[in-house]
Amino acid sequence: MFKSEYLNRVYAQVEARSANEPEFLQAVYEVLESLEPVVEANPKIEANGILERLVEPERQIFFRVPWVDDNGKVHVNRGFRVQFNSAIGPYKGGIRLHPSVNASVIKFLGFEQIFKNSLTSLPIGGGKGGSDFDPKGKSDLEIMRFCQSFMTELCKHIGADTDVPAGDIGTGAREIGYMYGQYKRLRNEFTGVLTGKGLSYGGSLARTEATGYGLCYFVEEMLKCMKNDSFKGKTVVISGSGNVAIYANQKATELGGKVVAMSDSNGYIVDNNGIDLAVVKQIKEVERGRIKEYVNRVKGAEYHEGCAGIWTVKCDIALPCATQNEINEESAKTLVKNGVIAVGEGANMPSTPEAVATFQNAGVLFAPAKAANAGGVATSALEMSQNSMRYSWTFEEVDAKLKNIMINIFHNAYNAAEKYGQKGNLVAGANIAGFEKVADAMIAQGIAY
Ligand code: NDP
Repeated sequence: MFKSEYLNRVYAQVEARSANEPEFLQAVYEVLESLEPVVEANPKIEANGILERLVEPERQIFFRVPWVDDNGKVHVNRGFRVQFNSAIGPYKGGIRLHPSVNASVIKFLGFEQIFKNSLTSLPIGGGKGGSDFDPKGKSDLEIMRFCQSFMTELCKHIGADTDVPAGDIGTGAREIGYMYGQYKRLRNEFTGVLTGKGLSYGGSLARTEATGYGLCYFVEEMLKCMKNDSFKGKTVVISGSGNVAIYANQKATELGGKVVAMSDSNGYIVDNNGIDLAVVKQIKEVERGRIKEYVNRVKGAEYHEGCAGIWTVKCDIALPCATQNEINEESAKTLVKNGVIAVGEGANMPSTPEAVATFQNAGVLFAPAKAANAGGVATSALEMSQNSMRYSWTFEEVDAKLKNIMINIFHNAYNAAEKYGQKGNLVAGANIAGFEKVADAMIAQGIAY
């Protein structure tokens, strides 16, 4: 429990209202814990009921998504959009398509998104959406029909100045294309209502690469400023083999690291010569296959069933880029025992609270998701700017802005932690730096009487 009576009261109310939402409770607890010194130093926060308001979404939309498979059979999935906080800009956050999606998962992601979006320094509020639809094994036409049905309802609640969804697990360029097409058909508007669009219809160069690249820019700055070190010569392990993992691999390699392991939800591959990324891209991006295929194509590589085992592979830098709670305490202890010096979270909340404590107690540099993976949404906001201007920046221009944003996020988080007596604790720093701007805006905008 917290020392502050106010924080205990706020958390007790969230627990009572969201007893069946463990991921959401986990995310709220972590943020409140970091905000304790800020709340103590700023009585205006309690006086304006900021935390009570922050933990309750402004709006939640749950809807039916009926679709027809290739055999004419009708299926019904559940759709979600949580519009969490619009104090500093239109709601912004991805759409996750995965069987594990439920209200708790979408709420935790939407809650985290408020702080992450604020950290980017761009004018975007927090939101998130998705469905428990499983894209695996579906034909292209089935995916298209699902996306169209999903957008048929969602289009009533979003808009370029209201709420701008993007990709996430299971939602890549193909799904965004189908959703955008349906939005346009129904609304007769060509606007920047989604980001992660294809380049031929309003997408931004470097958006595909942004989360993975941004993660590595953040980790490089953290290594430089906190340890006078870099990726050069380091062994790197990256979980996942989706959008974030692939481009984290590319940038980590460019910066001089050697990536020796990657995974998917079935298992992981180890290649001590350094993973051949072209092979991974062919399997995952072109063929939409399984990572185990890699060992049939690259000599000397190994495949192991079970994705959690990837954390037993010895490395200097670990980049979890698959999903939430994928590193537990035991995996964290193994990483520490094997000499890991830095962990950068590409996925959202991939480390359990016990795992985070293990890294921090062992003096491992720890880059929390909210800060370290904010490059994706930052570049989405740059896509929104380009759409508004009806103009496109070059890859180099977007990449330079992304790098600059990630370096600033690191310093803002680092300085906020130091200001509140928690030097080096980037978890606290990211929460505090993200919170301050949102709280300011909420106070300035008042409450409707
Ligand atoms: P993708 O769908 O492209 O890839 C996800 C990867 O993680 C796949 O390799 C997938 O394996 C694996 N995975 C998914 N669920 C699980 C699971 N339950 N257990 C083990 N492995 C799993 O998604 P992204 O790369 O876009 O997203 C990865 C993470 O990064 C997510 O946490 C997302 O929220 C976060 N993120 C993404 C951003 C983006 O710009 N895309 C921005 C910021 C954060 P399989 O193929 O077997 O399903």
